[in-house]
Amino acid sequence: MNAPSYTPEQKMQFLFALRSRGLTDARVLNAMEAVDRAQFVQDGVFKDRAYEDMPLPIACGQTISQPSVVGLMTQALDLGPRHHVLEIGTGSGYQGAILSHLARRVFTVDRHKRLVDDARATFEALDLRNITAVTADGSRGLPDQAPFDRIIVTAAAEDPPGPLLAQLKIGGIMVVPCGQAETVQTLVKVVRGEDGFDYTELRDVRFVPLLEGVSRD
Ligand code: SAH
Repeated sequence: MNAPSYTPEQKMQFLFALRSRGLTDARVLNAMEAVDRAQFVQDGVFKDRAYEDMPLPIACGQTISQPSVVGLMTQALDLGPRHHVLEIGTGSGYQGAILSHLARRVFTVDRHKRLVDDARATFEALDLRNITAVTADGSRGLPDQAPFDRIIVTAAAEDPPGPLLAQLKIGGIMVVPCGQAETVQTLVKVVRGEDGFDYTELRDVRFVPLLEGVSRD
């Protein structure tokens, strides 16, 4: 894979910001060090802000999430090297690339074909072979590939979508931002037990909404 293009100073600041926001899992920190965020930001005014801990605009009016939020969501998933993972909300592909470093197989779904095509090209350029990007309505999950050990939703739902809960293995974990689109949302961790689901609220977050249906642009 291509070496990250940041300077040693930018790299130090990037990792410092992650740690100071509560990222402690060394595997997640290593994956985030290995995946160059600049590769997921289009050329233009925002490219040189790729290593700052802030969300940035991407195509189709969407955003690439803030690195510390990506890190904390990944940490909450407690990924293992054998895991079969589903991400809803491919966006730029940045979160998916980090998942691909930590799991065996990753499926990532977005409702915008253009974002899926761009992310697929980036995964190929970075030689990430265990991640597949699909254009679909992710609120229905990916029944053909289910069940999953881990599910991560990177758009805000009012409640954890039923089809996604149904596609989670027993013992599996899902993280999903919940709440109305324009207000503060709560990141919820769902653990599926033998007899039902256990919900824990992790922190406030702000994501674009999970919309129904596939987009035409
Ligand atoms: N994880 C991304 C950021 C996601 S932004 C990254 O690392 O860059 C949220 C994404 O969710 C947007 O790209 C949006 O198109 C997508 N989205 C919203 N509703 C969706 C749905 N029902 N199915 C699939 N993707 C959806």
